[in-house]
Amino acid sequence: MDLRPHIRTIPDFPKPGILFYDISTLLAHPGAWKSAMEKLAERVRPYRPDVLAGIDSRGFLTAAPLALLLGCGFVMVRKKGKLPGPTIPHSYALEYGTDTLEIQADAVEPGQRVVLLDDLLATGGTAGAAVTLLRKVGAEVPALAVVMELAFLGGRARLDVPVESLVQYD
Ligand code: 5GP
Repeated sequence: MDLRPHIRTIPDFPKPGILFYDISTLLAHPGAWKSAMEKLAERVRPYRPDVLAGIDSRGFLTAAPLALLLGCGFVMVRKKGKLPGPTIPHSYALEYGTDTLEIQADAVEPGQRVVLLDDLLATGGTAGAAVTLLRKVGAEVPALAVVMELAFLGGRARLDVPVESLVQYD
């Protein structure tokens, strides 16, 4: 199934001048979302993950059903202050200021193969920070997988893990 007709773009969100790629319509269509998850499962399976990590918040929508399809665990990489108990943080630079991602200190066993999931790869800043965080807690990160890749922003070149994406925008 062609996923592109199910992904819409919304101009000037979240700020004027930004074209937002919206997966709400893909999620709302049961056949299209199922097809997306099945395709992603085929792409991720060869990396033999023990665990999938989803990035807050649309990465959860992607990683959780994929973990069921692949029969592996699911962990959350969240924005600061959302996770209970001991957490490990990693701060990274944004265009203006910084942001912090966190993971629960015991979410991953050292040496586990953790494939990272998000809905979309843009500049690669978020995914790069999540890879660093996962390595901090001892994970091996064999790949990043996303539904959509804004290839014109060059995120893939900024990452030191292979990237699997279902739909690329040039
Ligand atoms: P990056 O850090 O690669 O520049 O941005 C990717 C992150 O921001 C992802 O977590 C993604 O969910 C979010 N993001 C940035 N732009 C878009 C967009 O146009 N559509 C969607 N769905 N997410 C976006």
